[in-house]
Amino acid sequence: MYFSADQLNVDSTKTLLSKPNKIVITTHFKPDGDAMGSSLGLYNYLSRKGHQVTVVTPSDYPEFLWWMEGNDKVVNFQSNPAAATELVTSADVIFCLDFNDPARIENMQQAVSDSAAVKILIDHHLDPKNFCNYTFSYPSSAATCELIYYFILAMGDSKMIDRTIAECLYTGIMTDTGSFRFPAMKPELHRVIATLMEAGARHSLLHELVYDNFSESRLRLLGYCLSRKLQVLSQYQTAFITLNEQEMNEYNFQTGDSEGIVNYGLGIKGVKLAAFFSEKQGLVKISFRSRDDFSVKELAEQHFNGGGHKNAAGGKSLLTLQQTVDKFIALLPGLKLGT
Ligand code: 5GP
Ligand code: MN
Repeated sequence: MYFSADQLNVDSTKTLLSKPNKIVITTHFKPDGDAMGSSLGLYNYLSRKGHQVTVVTPSDYPEFLWWMEGNDKVVNFQSNPAAATELVTSADVIFCLDFNDPARIENMQQAVSDSAAVKILIDHHLDPKNFCNYTFSYPSSAATCELIYYFILAMGDSKMIDRTIAECLYTGIMTDTGSFRFPAMKPELHRVIATLMEAGARHSLLHELVYDNFSESRLRLLGYCLSRKLQVLSQYQTAFITLNEQEMNEYNFQTGDSEGIVNYGLGIKGVKLAAFFSEKQGLVKISFRSRDDFSVKELAEQHFNGGGHKNAAGGKSLLTLQQTVDKFIALLPGLKLGT
């Protein structure tokens, strides 16, 4: 059954939010469009309801998301740990958005678990860990931004969705659905998008802000990855790209510059599994994408200390870049990618 606002029992949350609260909204490490869209969408909504709200991120995030309203008030735990910890510690309520495991907020985990705040999870990843007082977990939803839309509706505040909130929510749905093309996209979600456009979301501008905002070095890095670094193992229906720290430095790598590169592997006919490995300061970060029924979530969970969704997951490795790739290649013959 499709997710709907009626499924959200917000009675307790309504009571909790019936008086002004100190609220912290947090999301996963290296936030993406859905993480920042849902956080700032909710931030703008709750601020207007009279709460004292701060978005605290565990790390920085890509520049192509900085245009969102409220971005200049975001506190980054990595660059400002004392202020971020104080906010988390003194909060009455903490919203945890777009992640299912406290490990995904990395070094902020301790402060959040120590905080006496009431914690509310709103998320769409499978198998959420039990770390919040209230858990709104809907893995059938394509994006946390969709859930924030229904959350505002369930709170009885659909009329409060103005252009600012609509543009934050539109962005997360757009980025998490690959611009409305992934299997999780549903007719109902197109109707949500229509409502967001009616509320003023400038769809064409948003696509430009997110996708047509590359620095020259980012575009050249993409070119380098595709022409020089792409490896295709057609016998395993697999394609992957690796980048080491030196290569990233050569292209003046900034947070977000590798976003989307993994998807190009899946653009090759017959490829069902794509991976992207990048190494920085001794840590290898991995992105996986798959087609059809093959679940990269399990692959990431079982072998690469990660997780995610069926067709999009990530993980990390403390082996060297080459050892990590060797481990990946060794796993390929055993994977059932289908025909
Ligand atoms: P991406 O490859 O775009 O970084 O992430 C794809 C998906 O996998 C996202 O839903 C993201 O939340 C999840 N993901 C990425 N890295 C990790 C990780 O290290 N651990 C877990 N549990 N999920 C991850
Ligand atoms: Mn998401």
